[in-house]
Amino acid sequence: MAGRTILVIVPHPDDAELSCDASVARWIREGDRAVLAVATGGSLGAKLSSEPERMVEERAAEQLAAARVIGYEDVLFLGFRDGELEDDAALRKALVREIRRIRPDLVILLDPLTVIYRNSYVNHRDHRMLGMAALDAMYPEASNAGYFPDALGDGLELHKVPEVLLATTDSPNYWVDVGDTLDLRFDALRQHASQLRLWPENGEGVIREQRELAAVIGREHGMEYAEAFRRVVVNPLS
Ligand SMILES: [Zn+2]
Repeated sequence: MAGRTILVIVPHPDDAELSCDASVARWIREGDRAVLAVATGGSLGAKLSSEPERMVEERAAEQLAAARVIGYEDVLFLGFRDGELEDDAALRKALVREIRRIRPDLVILLDPLTVIYRNSYVNHRDHRMLGMAALDAMYPEASNAGYFPDALGDGLELHKVPEVLLATTDSPNYWVDVGDTLDLRFDALRQHASQLRLWPENGEGVIREQRELAAVIGREHGMEYAEAFRRVVVNPLS
């Protein structure tokens, strides 16, 4: 499997570190390359801050540091506003451009079909909007010249993504052993200091919960720690 190009598309800085990055870290170490696309600047992550622009700068720096820990080759900030993602043509065009440029073998998203995760987490509206937009951007838009014809040429070519993994899903069918890289994911998560200071025990409570969740998921599948995904291997008709 090594040698793949992986594109991870998330709405906010820290989403990848809270969902799929132990798997990504593992695959990078096995010889894949990965690019992280972050749709918004995460300006609302401060919750009380009246300085959203400063928050965007701070969170971009944190995301770059976290991506270095995981081993991402590149981080793209798509520049949409936090809390205002819509499944519209502007967002889909931005995604189609990156898919046609990067030509990924695998795309990882947060599952937009899961509204309530494990009866405790309400999947953020931005996550659902971005997930639906990304699925539409891939099937059929990125591989059909009739969609966004001005996003072709100049290094942009039609591309059909063969495989998608949906993270934070209530319909998992694919489990990745992350025993060797889960701690790396937590090291990456710790780079998001602006968020950790808002969380219980300066983030360590969240990390403990996340470790427990990875252990619970792993235990069901004979692994110490696992991340779970809904895996979609795309039918040629898509
Ligand atoms: Zn998020």
